Amino acid sequence: MSHPIQTGSFQWMKSINKSAILNIIRLQGPISRSEIAKVTRLTSPTVTNIVAELLQSGLVVESDRGESTGGRKPILLKINGSAFGVIGVYAGAKKVRALAADLEGRAGEEVVLPVPPRPTKEQFVSIVQKAVHQVKEQIQKKGHPLLGIGVGMHGLVDPEQGISIYAPNLYLRDIPIASLLEEVFKVPVEVENDVRALAIGESWFGQGQGIDDFISVHVGTGVGAGIIAEGRLVHGPSFTAGEVGHTTIDARGPLCNCGNHGCLEAFVAAPAMVRRAREQLQTGVSSSLSDKLQDTADSLTGEAIFQAARAGDTFAAEILAETGRYLGIGLSNLVNLFNPRKIILSGGVIAAGPLVLDPLKQTIRERALSIPAGDVSIVPSTLGRSGRAIGAYTLVLQKLFQPQMS
Ligand SMILES: [Zn+2]
Repeated sequence: MSHPIQTGSFQWMKSINKSAILNIIRLQGPISRSEIAKVTRLTSPTVTNIVAELLQSGLVVESDRGESTGGRKPILLKINGSAFGVIGVYAGAKKVRALAADLEGRAGEEVVLPVPPRPTKEQFVSIVQKAVHQVKEQIQKKGHPLLGIGVGMHGLVDPEQGISIYAPNLYLRDIPIASLLEEVFKVPVEVENDVRALAIGESWFGQGQGIDDFISVHVGTGVGAGIIAEGRLVHGPSFTAGEVGHTTIDARGPLCNCGNHGCLEAFVAAPAMVRRAREQLQTGVSSSLSDKLQDTADSLTGEAIFQAARAGDTFAAEILAETGRYLGIGLSNLVNLFNPRKIILSGGVIAAGPLVLDPLKQTIRERALSIPAGDVSIVPSTLGRSGRAIGAYTLVLQKLFQPQMS
């Protein structure tokens, strides 16, 4: 069997008809050739020729015969999902997570490697390559060829060139990630901002399935969003669309990492929440967290605040509620600007659950315009810790099945 798609790019899929047929087989398979012709309005010979190429590539296989409508039972076609592997990489400032999946998006092997503080470009790229190598070895043991790699990279990314333009928490600039990985692994590589990749993952496999207008918001060490409007990820000419973390919530607010004052991120990201708690504890408020101020190790963490709140500490609960209210102000702006059907929340701060989410939703009800606020549902992501890596391999699946969307 030959695999012409493994030539280093998805040029082979550039034929709109070919990707359209492949996508119909993915979504509606097992499906017959005549049914494909009916759905696509292509002629039978065109469908037969393209299906022959798809069969030869190994991406599609013939499955059982379908129901007969009178004559001979038609042969049905389906995606040969488990025969190929893709890898999604979340490349963050603290860890790199590489996750394998098959063509139907079923996740498999995962490797997580730590990133040391302030790595050089070479060190960072070699950690990413090492993680991909380890996962690739595991899927190749099963005899599944690797079809492509997607990278969800922290910071500002140029997805067209596959370059990390600026990764603030790594203090790195201008890393040509796609070309560095393509050189080593000889497969196509897609690169996107990590949270924008997560939004694509939500739209294929998470809470965004079947929804054309939603926003995925991640609240962790930083705050970012991926905006899906009318079925497409919004990038903007400089690829910065979705930087909700750097919208101003309070003009006189605390200094943000970006140099501005009072950004949403400077109130609700985990380090900002911890800083707020520390400042208030230093004024002598009564809390079970007060002991942690004396610790030399940084034991006052977001997790410590959640634990204290769950154990009934009213100060800790108020810090989380305040975080929820600030986040609610930021999200009210998104509701008014984009009129999304859903806002899908993820990240460590969201893991605090109702302690953050209830005041957040209450703030949206109070502050957003009532019509869009009535139409939006605020939900936590169901993709879990690997969400950004799932989003990263979805970039590859999207390129393969829906190249016109990416
Ligand atoms: Zn900022």
